[in-house]
Amino acid sequence: MENNLDLYNTLTKKVERFVPNEDGKVKMYTCGPTVYHYAHIGNLRSYIMEDVLEKFLRFSGYDVKRVMNITDVGHLASDADTGEDKMLKGAKREHKTVMEIAKFYTDAFMSDCAKLNIKTPDVVEPATNCIADFIHMVEALLEKGYAYLAGGNVYFDTSKLAKYYVLSNQNAEELAVGVRESVEEDENKRSKTDFVLWFTKSKFEDQELKWESPWGVGYPGWHIECSAICMKHLGETLDIHCGGIDNVFPHHTNEIAQSESYLGHKWCNYWFHVLHLNDATGKMSKSKGDFLTVSLLEEKGYDPLVYRMFCLQSHYRKPLIFTYEALDNAAVAYGKLVAKIAALSPDGAVEEEKLAELKAQFLEAMDNDINTSSGLTVLYDALKADANDATKRAAAALFDEVLSLGLLAAAQRMKEEKSGAGLDGDLVGFIEAKIAERKEAKKAKDFARADAIREELAAKGIAIKDTREGTVWERM
Ligand code: AMP
Ligand code: ZN
Repeated sequence: MENNLDLYNTLTKKVERFVPNEDGKVKMYTCGPTVYHYAHIGNLRSYIMEDVLEKFLRFSGYDVKRVMNITDVGHLASDADTGEDKMLKGAKREHKTVMEIAKFYTDAFMSDCAKLNIKTPDVVEPATNCIADFIHMVEALLEKGYAYLAGGNVYFDTSKLAKYYVLSNQNAEELAVGVRESVEEDENKRSKTDFVLWFTKSKFEDQELKWESPWGVGYPGWHIECSAICMKHLGETLDIHCGGIDNVFPHHTNEIAQSESYLGHKWCNYWFHVLHLNDATGKMSKSKGDFLTVSLLEEKGYDPLVYRMFCLQSHYRKPLIFTYEALDNAAVAYGKLVAKIAALSPDGAVEEEKLAELKAQFLEAMDNDINTSSGLTVLYDALKADANDATKRAAAALFDEVLSLGLLAAAQRMKEEKSGAGLDGDLVGFIEAKIAERKEAKKAKDFARADAIREELAAKGIAIKDTREGTVWERM
């Protein structure tokens, strides 16, 4: 398959032409949320940009399989395996069980994603479903001599690797600083960079989730989750692994160490990292307590898709500062864009050649390392292009398959609100229900019924029109 996507790869620190292992197919893995609290809009920036990447790959013609884990066990307060279990902390905070917390915040995360038009990955797997897979991988690492038992825990032995820092330029000195700052040092580790694969000697008497293992009752380390869940669903090679930039070290570095030691060959070719969303006080973090959520933005009257727009206006490899002023600007830009689309007449036939030209421009912009702000510029330009309204609408609908700003739906709502001035809500609901019914009738090839619905609406003074992007209505 021909493709021109250039993607920045954290592994090589270069923008490279994307070439998947298997022609036409992309295997993609995303680190999912740790479900001990709501996702903050910083986490969601990462998921929005990963969603755009996935959708753009599909738009370019790839068959994509994307897998995401849900971390419901094993992620300790410090990424370096120290501190309290995050899930247990959440459970104590809310006087609930760990599984109750996991269910509640997984649902909340999925609901936030839905509001932001983030597609659910093909596979979403909670870590607690895969304990046997983790144990199998840890056993294999022990057998191959890449792991050791100490003080009851199983550790990965980083001294067995020719090169451990494959993703970051971290040196031993920087790491030592990190260790000094961390809550406590784990005396069982032979080397500071070693990490826990399986905990049995838990420091926490009240750890709720524990499983039998060959090394005693315990629970998995955080890093092993992602490697094992990824391989369970995507096999021994991976095209793209995604996450926020904070995951580069230690999480992704450790994932590479254990996965390649286990497999005996290279695992993942492209590493895609989204830079952080910061607020005026610094990086947004769940552990800090007061952080911005989608619900909070909604309470303040913002459409969640305005936040998506705000994210798309910037490149994923640049840090982004959140302010309400910037969000207000995004809201204005979003409103203008929707108004432009709402003003397009659905009449006329799409000029296919022109549309293909506009599509090529969009592909070119996005091929340049998922440059969403250029993609938006192409959309603005398309709306000003020398083309008829039907073509412009079709271009907006096409680009929105990737941008997912809900542009056509928002434009239709805007039109309805305008033409609906004076129409009561019941009538608008009636019209929408009839349009949905007619769509079903047409799907079932019951054209007589479809025509009858058209006439029924006409009798109420409502004209409907079928466009490529769906049925629109207006007052006669
Ligand atoms: P967590 O739920 O803490 O495991 O994080 C979920 C995802 O959000 C991971 O990919 C993190 O790297 C990412 N992330 C964490 N903080 C931020 C931030 N401030 N901005 C963007 N992404 C973030
Ligand atoms: Zn992960």
